[in-house]
This record gives sequence, C-alpha cells and structure tokens, in this order.
Amino acid sequence: MLVSCKDTNLGVKVEGQSNISDFFETMKVRFEKCLDPTLSCTEKAINAHSVQNATSLGLIAEGNHVYELRMRVKNGSPECLFEKVGRNQASTFPGFCSRHDTEIFKPIDTKPLSLDDAEQLFLIAYRSVTRELHTVMEAAMRLQTTLERQIAEGLVPKDKPSPAMTEATAHMIKAWGVWKHRLECYDRPFAKSRFGDVLHSTFVIEGRKPVLASSSFFSVDDKAWGKRFAAVTLNVIPTSTTKAAVIVSYPKEQSGKARRYVAPIFLKNGDARLSALSHMLVDRAENFFVSPQHVEGWTAEKRKAIEEAFVGTVIRGEPATSSSDLMLF
Ligand SMILES: [Zn+2]
Repeated sequence: MLVSCKDTNLGVKVEGQSNISDFFETMKVRFEKCLDPTLSCTEKAINAHSVQNATSLGLIAEGNHVYELRMRVKNGSPECLFEKVGRNQASTFPGFCSRHDTEIFKPIDTKPLSLDDAEQLFLIAYRSVTRELHTVMEAAMRLQTTLERQIAEGLVPKDKPSPAMTEATAHMIKAWGVWKHRLECYDRPFAKSRFGDVLHSTFVIEGRKPVLASSSFFSVDDKAWGKRFAAVTLNVIPTSTTKAAVIVSYPKEQSGKARRYVAPIFLKNGDARLSALSHMLVDRAENFFVSPQHVEGWTAEKRKAIEEAFVGTVIRGEPATSSSDLMLF
C-alpha cells in the first residue's frame, strides 16, 4: 500500500545522496508544518480535508458518520476493520496551513466539479499526492524518533547498522521519493500553472446513490524506494445524489504506464468496471470511505472478506484475489 515498493534495496547507491541528507534536515524542521508547493511556509498545518468534506462526504454520510478501514494490532497481529468515524475526522490530514488550504484549493472548493477543468483535476490530484507525502513523512519521523530514543537509552548502537536503523532509513528514503515525485511532477507545474502536465482518465458512475469516496495515491511500477517511480492518484468523488466522478491522474510522461495499470477499469463497463475499481481500491488505496447504510447492508462474510483482503495487501503485499465479495459499490 502507499507507494508499493516491496523490493527495498538499501544496498544500492541512491542517486544524489546529498539531496537526501538535505531532505532529512528539512523534514525534521518541516514536519507538522504546512506542505505548500514551495515548502517554504512556516505556518503550522491544520487538519485539511483530503476529500471535499462539505460536498462529497456529505453525500455518503449518515448522521454525520462514514465507515473507513482502520488498521489495528490485536494480540500482536495486524487486523483491519470497518469502523464508523465522524465525517469531520474522516479523511483529514495536517498537510497545509489554513491560508494555503484555502488559497490553493479555492477552484475546487468554491466551484462545482467539472471533468473538463484541467486546473480542478490537477488540484484534486495534488491533494492526494500531498496526503501521501504527509503519511510517509509521518511514518519516517515516527521511526526516526524511536531510533533516536533507543540510541539514547543505549538499546541500539549509534554508529552500527541495526534493524531499527535500517527501517528508519528505508522510510526516510521512501518519504524522500514521494517528496521528489511531488516536486517534479506537481510542484513545478503548479508554480507555472501548467495544469496540463498532469493527465486524467475519468468516468462517471450514474443513476445510483453514491456510496463511496476516496482520495489515494499509489505507484504503478515496482521501483525500489528512493528511485524515480511512476504513480497515479485515484479519486472517487460523489457529486450529486445520483452521481460520482472517478478520476485517475498521472504525470503526462508516465501516462503509458499509468493507463496500462488502470486499464482493467477503463476497458470495462457497468458492473464489471465497478468490480475492477473495487478490486483496485482494496488492493492499492488506503483512504476510502463508505456510506454506513451500504456497509451495514453487507453480509458478515462479505465484510470480513474485504477486511481480510485489505490486511493481506497491506501487510503481506499479496494482491487481493478477484472475488464478487470485494464489490464495494
Ligand atoms: Zn502555508
């Protein structure tokens, strides 16, 4: 999940080592601060929405709640369950300060969504990429803090490799890779209003009540962490009581890889298409929300099948096996 990079190889020489150490330093200072496109804002980040709260989550919430898949460790092993969360807590992440959250996303927060509006589509993808950047930075910082504490307590050596150091370094490199991806594929085009540098494949789910909203980011190739990788954002945005927009976004120069990866969705129609989309969400997305009525209408077996498939992909890196139980719509 997140950026899928199962073949982490810390033995390889990572290009531009000095850039990584710069990044480590920057990150220590910047964590919990605004991740604005120039990474220069010094304001504290607020809880910004990764999915537009007022419109899209409102269309699937009931009693102000939605369901999300939450990972827990129970008796030493990871478990994933659908849990009911408040609509306001759902999908927020401390990624931008109040001013940048308002300014940057004004075109999507104040106008109805149009699938022909390159700026809106760019910003939707930008929000998903930034959420991922925040997630991987948070993981890296947590491991780094743990490592520093263990070193201070004399539990692990300062200068010799240890499993804790290897893991902390791997996650730093992963965060650095996502940061570089955002910088090259999103921040630079954004600075010049070159919204067309990010392309989109879209379709609309029509004639049924929206039941799911999502904002996710994942790689579509299998590069080691820290290597340049190709990635997409996948957004499912309820837009009315009978419609939801599905938007897959990718940098123009990665469009070949991206389109091939999502072809199982875009080459199908009707329920087969929704089934392929469900499969990809369970397999690769980690940030999606489902309407309470919908989840509560599933059989216990179906719910369990989705939860187990999700744990399998997150923990064991196993792709979910195709099954009608995984249909989320
Ligand atoms: Zn800011």
